[in-house]
Amino acid sequence: MDTIQNNTVASVHYTGTLPDTGEVFDSSEGRDPLVFLVGHRQMIPGFEEEMLGAKVGERRTFTLEPERAYGQREEANVTTFPRAHFAAVEAEVPLEVGMTLVADMMDGPRPFSVVAVEEDTITADFNHQLAGKSLTFSVEVVELRAAEEGEIAHGHVHGKGGVTH
Ligand code: ZN
Repeated sequence: MDTIQNNTVASVHYTGTLPDTGEVFDSSEGRDPLVFLVGHRQMIPGFEEEMLGAKVGERRTFTLEPERAYGQREEANVTTFPRAHFAAVEAEVPLEVGMTLVADMMDGPRPFSVVAVEEDTITADFNHQLAGKSLTFSVEVVELRAAEEGEIAHGHVHGKGGVTH
Protein backbone atom coordinates (compact mmCIF):
# COMPACT_ATOMS: atom_id res chain seq x y z
CA MET A 1 0.00 0.00 0.00
CA ASP A 2 2.29 2.74 -1.31
CA THR A 3 -0.25 5.41 -2.11
CA ILE A 4 -3.66 6.58 -0.91
CA GLN A 5 -6.41 4.60 -2.62
CA ASN A 6 -9.75 3.08 -1.66
CA ASN A 7 -9.54 0.83 1.40
CA THR A 8 -6.30 2.43 2.56
CA VAL A 9 -6.06 3.49 6.20
CA ALA A 10 -4.39 6.88 5.96
CA SER A 11 -2.84 8.89 8.79
CA VAL A 12 -2.37 12.54 7.90
CA HIS A 13 -1.52 15.85 9.47
CA TYR A 14 -3.62 18.67 8.09
CA THR A 15 -4.37 22.34 8.46
CA GLY A 16 -7.59 23.81 7.11
CA THR A 17 -7.80 27.53 6.38
CA LEU A 18 -10.40 29.85 4.90
CA PRO A 19 -8.85 31.14 1.66
CA ASP A 20 -10.54 34.55 1.98
CA THR A 21 -9.07 35.41 5.37
CA GLY A 22 -6.35 32.83 6.04
CA GLU A 23 -8.11 31.95 9.30
CA VAL A 24 -7.32 28.41 10.51
CA PHE A 25 -10.60 26.59 11.20
CA ASP A 26 -9.11 23.22 12.09
CA SER A 27 -5.69 21.63 12.39
CA SER A 28 -4.07 18.46 13.66
CA GLU A 29 -0.91 20.39 14.66
CA GLY A 30 0.08 19.40 18.18
CA ARG A 31 -2.31 16.45 18.15
CA ASP A 32 -2.21 12.88 16.90
CA PRO A 33 -2.63 12.59 13.14
CA LEU A 34 -6.10 12.18 11.68
CA VAL A 35 -6.70 8.52 10.76
CA PHE A 36 -9.37 7.60 8.22
CA LEU A 37 -10.49 4.80 5.93
CA VAL A 38 -10.39 5.97 2.32
CA GLY A 39 -13.45 5.41 0.13
CA HIS A 40 -16.06 5.08 2.88
CA ARG A 41 -17.42 8.62 3.08
CA GLN A 42 -15.67 9.36 6.34
CA MET A 43 -14.27 12.58 4.91
CA ILE A 44 -15.74 15.38 2.85
CA PRO A 45 -15.61 14.20 -0.79
CA GLY A 46 -13.01 16.59 -2.17
CA PHE A 47 -10.52 15.85 0.60
CA GLU A 48 -10.18 12.20 -0.44
CA GLU A 49 -10.28 12.97 -4.17
CA GLU A 50 -7.40 15.42 -3.85
CA MET A 51 -5.31 13.00 -1.77
CA LEU A 52 -5.69 9.92 -3.99
CA GLY A 53 -2.30 8.65 -5.13
CA ALA A 54 -0.32 10.55 -2.46
CA LYS A 55 2.69 8.79 -0.90
CA VAL A 56 3.98 8.80 2.68
CA GLY A 57 5.79 12.08 3.30
CA GLU A 58 4.02 13.84 0.44
CA ARG A 59 2.29 17.15 1.16
CA ARG A 60 -0.57 18.47 -0.93
CA THR A 61 -2.35 21.80 -0.71
CA PHE A 62 -5.71 22.32 -2.39
CA THR A 63 -8.81 24.46 -2.21
CA LEU A 64 -12.29 22.92 -2.30
CA GLU A 65 -15.42 24.74 -3.45
CA PRO A 66 -18.42 24.25 -1.11
CA GLU A 67 -19.87 21.52 -3.37
CA ARG A 68 -16.83 19.33 -2.64
CA ALA A 69 -16.67 20.33 1.03
CA TYR A 70 -19.68 20.86 3.32
CA GLY A 71 -22.19 21.87 0.64
CA GLN A 72 -24.12 25.08 0.22
CA ARG A 73 -26.02 26.73 3.03
CA GLU A 74 -29.75 26.06 2.87
CA GLU A 75 -32.22 28.45 4.39
CA ALA A 76 -34.57 25.49 4.99
CA ASN A 77 -32.07 24.43 7.67
CA VAL A 78 -32.82 27.55 9.70
CA THR A 79 -35.70 26.91 12.11
CA THR A 80 -37.45 28.70 14.95
CA PHE A 81 -38.23 26.91 18.22
CA PRO A 82 -40.27 28.00 21.24
CA ARG A 83 -37.77 29.30 23.76
CA ALA A 84 -39.54 27.24 26.44
CA HIS A 85 -38.02 24.09 24.87
CA PHE A 86 -34.65 25.28 26.10
CA ALA A 87 -35.65 26.04 29.69
CA ALA A 88 -33.39 23.28 30.99
CA VAL A 89 -30.41 24.68 29.08
CA GLU A 90 -31.22 28.19 30.14
CA ALA A 91 -31.28 27.15 33.78
CA GLU A 92 -27.57 26.34 33.39
CA VAL A 93 -26.20 28.90 30.94
CA PRO A 94 -27.60 32.04 29.32
CA LEU A 95 -28.69 31.54 25.70
CA GLU A 96 -26.47 33.58 23.42
CA VAL A 97 -26.19 34.12 19.69
CA GLY A 98 -23.32 32.03 18.34
CA MET A 99 -23.46 29.23 20.87
CA THR A 100 -23.79 25.63 19.71
CA LEU A 101 -26.51 23.40 21.16
CA VAL A 102 -27.80 19.94 20.32
CA ALA A 103 -31.45 19.25 19.51
CA ASP A 104 -32.99 15.81 20.01
CA MET A 105 -34.64 15.23 16.66
CA MET A 106 -36.56 12.19 15.46
CA ASP A 107 -33.49 10.99 13.56
CA GLY A 108 -31.14 11.54 16.51
CA PRO A 109 -29.17 14.40 18.05
CA ARG A 110 -28.31 17.24 15.67
CA PRO A 111 -26.09 20.19 16.53
CA PHE A 112 -27.10 23.71 15.60
CA SER A 113 -25.91 27.23 16.25
CA VAL A 114 -28.11 29.86 17.81
CA VAL A 115 -28.58 32.75 15.40
CA ALA A 116 -31.26 34.75 17.27
CA VAL A 117 -32.71 34.83 20.78
CA GLU A 118 -36.11 36.51 21.12
CA GLU A 119 -38.39 36.75 24.10
CA ASP A 120 -40.44 33.67 23.15
CA THR A 121 -38.38 31.99 20.42
CA ILE A 122 -34.88 31.06 19.44
CA THR A 123 -33.70 30.69 15.87
CA ALA A 124 -31.52 27.67 15.16
CA ASP A 125 -29.21 27.17 12.19
CA PHE A 126 -28.65 23.47 11.40
CA ASN A 127 -26.32 24.22 8.50
CA HIS A 128 -22.78 22.99 9.04
CA GLN A 129 -20.70 25.96 10.18
CA LEU A 130 -18.48 25.52 7.13
CA ALA A 131 -21.38 25.14 4.65
CA GLY A 132 -21.19 27.60 1.78
CA LYS A 133 -17.46 28.18 2.30
CA SER A 134 -14.46 27.33 0.17
CA LEU A 135 -11.82 25.56 2.22
CA THR A 136 -8.07 25.25 1.72
CA PHE A 137 -6.30 22.22 3.14
CA SER A 138 -2.61 21.52 3.50
CA VAL A 139 -2.22 17.80 4.11
CA GLU A 140 0.87 15.68 4.81
CA VAL A 141 0.70 11.89 4.64
CA VAL A 142 2.23 10.37 7.79
CA GLU A 143 1.45 6.68 7.44
CA LEU A 144 -0.45 4.30 5.13
CA ARG A 145 -1.57 0.73 5.54
CA ALA A 146 -4.07 -1.59 3.89
CA ALA A 147 -7.38 -1.81 5.74
CA GLU A 148 -8.34 -5.10 7.35
CA GLU A 149 -11.46 -6.96 6.25
CA GLY A 150 -13.33 -5.98 9.40
CA GLU A 151 -12.55 -2.33 8.84
CA ILE A 152 -13.81 -2.45 5.26
CA ALA A 153 -16.97 -4.25 6.41
CA HIS A 154 -17.61 -1.66 9.15
CA GLY A 155 -16.60 1.34 7.08
CA HIS A 156 -14.25 2.72 9.72
CA VAL A 157 -10.77 2.31 11.18
CA HIS A 158 -10.18 0.01 14.13
CA GLY A 159 -7.51 0.55 16.76
CA LYS A 160 -5.23 3.58 17.08
CA GLY A 161 -7.00 6.70 15.88
CA GLY A 162 -10.16 4.75 15.12
CA VAL A 163 -12.98 2.85 16.80
CA THR A 164 -12.21 0.38 19.60
CA HIS A 165 -14.79 -2.38 19.89
ZN1 ZN B 1 -15.95 -1.44 13.60
